[in-house]
Amino acid sequence: MNFSVDIGLLWEEENISGELTGEYAVQCRMDCCRYLNLAKTTGKFSAQLPASQSAATYGIRLGEMFSSARAEQMLTPLQASRPNLDLDILEAGKKWEANGRELDNRVWWPVVQCGSRSDAEAVAAELRELPGLDPLAFMIVKLEKAEPSAPFGFSLGEFSARILEVRMVPLDANSVFRLHHVPIGRGFHWQRKETLSYRGILSLFSPGHELTAVNRLPMEMYLESTVGSEMRSDLPPAFSQAQAICARSTVLATANRHHRADGFDVCNDDHCQCYQGTQREAQAVIEPVRATAGQVLLDENRVVDARYAKSCGGLSEKYEAVWGGEGPAYFAVRPCGEYYTRNINDDDSARISLVEPPKAFCNPKHYPYPDPWDKDPLFRWKYSHAPEKLGALVEEKTGTAVGKVRELRSVKRGQSGRILILDILGSERTLRVYGELNIRRALSPSHLPSSYFVTENSSAQITLIGGGWGHGVGLCQLGACAMAKAGMSVPRILDWYYPGSMPVVL
Ligand SMILES: [Zn+2]
Ligand SMILES: [Zn+2]
Repeated sequence: MNFSVDIGLLWEEENISGELTGEYAVQCRMDCCRYLNLAKTTGKFSAQLPASQSAATYGIRLGEMFSSARAEQMLTPLQASRPNLDLDILEAGKKWEANGRELDNRVWWPVVQCGSRSDAEAVAAELRELPGLDPLAFMIVKLEKAEPSAPFGFSLGEFSARILEVRMVPLDANSVFRLHHVPIGRGFHWQRKETLSYRGILSLFSPGHELTAVNRLPMEMYLESTVGSEMRSDLPPAFSQAQAICARSTVLATANRHHRADGFDVCNDDHCQCYQGTQREAQAVIEPVRATAGQVLLDENRVVDARYAKSCGGLSEKYEAVWGGEGPAYFAVRPCGEYYTRNINDDDSARISLVEPPKAFCNPKHYPYPDPWDKDPLFRWKYSHAPEKLGALVEEKTGTAVGKVRELRSVKRGQSGRILILDILGSERTLRVYGELNIRRALSPSHLPSSYFVTENSSAQITLIGGGWGHGVGLCQLGACAMAKAGMSVPRILDWYYPGSMPVVL
């Protein structure tokens, strides 16, 4: 496999600075057609965005479809009922060529074009209850793709100029660049900035409203440098190898989707795959990546979007229940073990399965977790809040004052028991929360482990009795780890969680 991956290291920045150590060939694009080559360069570099810049335009992605015809089908009735909306279909995802085989991971987004982010949010709130639309699939997105289009100030050693783009290509294996102020854990309370070193090519450009730094690396080299917290040398090799195949597949399946507008394939954070350059290259990651070199999962001519979550809680969830739109068939609702269970998409069956858990691969009573996961309640958990405190938390997290929380009422559950739409009934108002991730954010200072829960109310407290850790779609990591420990092979594990998919070597 000779694919290259474009990894976004910094974006939405006004200043970028760093240092080239070792020798680089540096190519500056001065304007539309003039290039300037600075051969064998090294030293400190910096880039600054000029003061007046255009703003990005935003829209609402109404879904993600496997054909433009399906996107059209969604938009036609909407245009008829709301002729004032400015609608469009955007292509996302990528086509890849491998050994004469064409892999097509394109998808189509029906979008409502708005303007500012807040305009888009206001229109989205209005469209949520409209029949024929799926509010779980709504996502506010930037519409234009980031391309080098605005000149910015760049300096490297003695050289200084206004340029459109710069590419810094390492001239030998020891050439490494350092980048300052790289955020780690974006959006989390533990977010911090570090100076990190990277191999491969560095490009800097500006689409007009921000500066972007992109690192290009061969796929296998990129995978070897991702920070696989789930790939440790003390875990069974079949588990780590399954994870490596999933990671490789996910890059090909999601390139130009999550970061369609940002100008790169994947980001360097947990959002896509945590990547911290040369600092974290670890044998525990390198071994399973090399043992599975080039292997991906295919679903006909699409690469499988091999998502995974820490613990499914007993049943895996369907893709469309979590992200809306169209979901691939391999994200079926499946028991995480050799037992039969019916769907648990109502409160009563969710309660029974939470209180009397199945013999799931991710149930630590039957398949003890390896250290340090054995310290956390990842399969079944419980949180209690006083009604006033829960109300204050909901206000802090959603910006809506609901008063004292009287009840958490599930409006819609997925088949794994996860709540997809939740009403928070308060003494002052009822707040409807859409989507499992928003529900998890609204009810916890950080994130609730999952939205698979039932409640027990007393006058003094509301208790959430829950199960699973994460969205539950695709591979259950703790389940897969138990399967590997029990001696099951990599293909068996992958077929369990992505039924019908085909492992191939590209
Ligand atoms: Zn990302
Ligand atoms: Zn599981």
